[in-house]
Amino acid sequence: MIACLGRIVHDNDAESKLDDDVSTISKSLELQGSIESGDVVSCSASKDFGGLYSIKPLFLIKPSGAEDISRVVKFAARTSNLTVAARGNGHSINGQAMSDGGLVIDMRSTEESHFEFLTINDSPHIDVSGGALWEDVLTQCVSRFGLAPRSWTDYLSLTVGGTLSNAGVSGQAFRYGPQTSNVTELEVVTGKGEITVCSETLNSELFFGVLGGLGQFGIITRARVKLQPAPDMVRWIRVVYSEFDEFTRDAEFLVTQEEGESFDYVEGFVFPNRDDVFDGWPSVPLDPVHEFSPGHIPQTAGSVLYSLELAFHYRNSDPPSTVDTVVSRILGRLGFVEGLKSQVDVSYTEFLQRVKRAEEEARANGCWDRPHPWLNLFVSKSDIVKFDRTVFKTMLKDGVGGPMLIYPLLRSRWDNRSSVALPDGEIFYIVALLRFVPKGQSVENSVAQNQEIVKWCTREGLDFKLYLPHYQSIQDWKRHFGNQWSRFVDRKACFDPMAILAPGQNIFRRDPSSVIISRDL
Ligand code: FAD
Repeated sequence: MIACLGRIVHDNDAESKLDDDVSTISKSLELQGSIESGDVVSCSASKDFGGLYSIKPLFLIKPSGAEDISRVVKFAARTSNLTVAARGNGHSINGQAMSDGGLVIDMRSTEESHFEFLTINDSPHIDVSGGALWEDVLTQCVSRFGLAPRSWTDYLSLTVGGTLSNAGVSGQAFRYGPQTSNVTELEVVTGKGEITVCSETLNSELFFGVLGGLGQFGIITRARVKLQPAPDMVRWIRVVYSEFDEFTRDAEFLVTQEEGESFDYVEGFVFPNRDDVFDGWPSVPLDPVHEFSPGHIPQTAGSVLYSLELAFHYRNSDPPSTVDTVVSRILGRLGFVEGLKSQVDVSYTEFLQRVKRAEEEARANGCWDRPHPWLNLFVSKSDIVKFDRTVFKTMLKDGVGGPMLIYPLLRSRWDNRSSVALPDGEIFYIVALLRFVPKGQSVENSVAQNQEIVKWCTREGLDFKLYLPHYQSIQDWKRHFGNQWSRFVDRKACFDPMAILAPGQNIFRRDPSSVIISRDL
């Protein structure tokens, strides 16, 4: 069925204005914020963290808030071809926040528009701008009020709108779900330029559509985030496994226990079984004073080893003996390799800022600015042993030059009304291949290996989905969304019928003559 959803108005006035200089356009848009030409050589909007694509926009707009964004979207709608991409902090890998010859909205310029605490049904919440960084939410909530969002990302220099458009996962998601499960209200500028407030009960189709919606249905200008009391301290622990079945058994045990019977954060990673400072044994200990003792690795160990990374929250007022007792009791139920345990006690904010320190190191040695052909997948528990055998133990036995994360999540903590596509099984693993390509090595080889992994998963019929997906063809997108595809298309038709928003996701294309969105493409 092909649904012809609307016709773009050709507005010669609007188009001719594009030839004018930026100040004229700024005036005609009546922006409170500012506008820059995409020709500015250093235009940040033409690059992203992935470093694989360089796509120049026509203009980069720095709005002051939702009203400006609404004006920009309405302006684009009056032209025959302009698209609009919200740019969070540009931490996408494959140009998802770019617009080729279109309008890029720098959401970071709206950061200051909201930071407001409220109590709803006795529960604390914070209203934040879609362009706010999670690290600023941390500062506002934890440092000032002793409160914290329940679900984080590992790295916090990401925007609230950017992670909510995908999911937002970290080691707390097994308990509270992804960040998309921890917001109760959004303000959104739709593809029609309408500023709409939505929640589970108000404009719910837009609310759930936008969550995990890859920016397709609206630009998030404000989010209401659930908060809870923040702990003071974290006991941060890493334990090592040589056998994958023991690693997964313990990881799955921990994520299915009640609160109080498990840790507050559960993640894991795979690393090459070798003495490599960057990604081998020496990279595992948290405490630099305690070295990794390879003598403890069993003879039976294979090409890679596994580590569970755990965190236990506590208050300064908790007696140290109580913390020790509870942590020992939970660790006592795990079967990691004796002698390969490392732990430190750090403040809660220090723990949440842990990747920032890795960023500082990577910036210092120059690899932060190099390309990052990252691949993220969700793989069902039913296929994870097969995945380990073929991908980790064989294809990636020498590592990827950066962390290879793997930890389980529970589907029941995700809201299936959101737009995120997940594998079918209740327990599925996030697998994140966070590649850092050293100088002189080929990015193409890394990209090709990613493609090979995805092809292998597809060929073998694994129950898997890409997280932060990137596809070239509509067939692949249809396969990605599976039986959610028709709902995705219907939402597009309803909220962005001209296909103006988030062109960098490469799902729908704005057609110069008419807008045709087909479920059967
Ligand atoms: P951008 O990359 O700028 O945008 C991403 C997409 O969202 C684009 O399509 C854009 O148009 C759209 N968008 C941006 N802002 C809005 C908005 N306000 N409203 C609607 N659409 C919008 N992810 C995790 O889940 N967990 C992690 O622990 C994690 N760690 C990461 C660490 C690093 C170093 C990096 C580079 C990425 C990490 N990510 C993680 C991935 C991250 O969630 C995505 O890159 C995400 O896109 C957020 O980045 P951003 O805010 O820079 O958004």
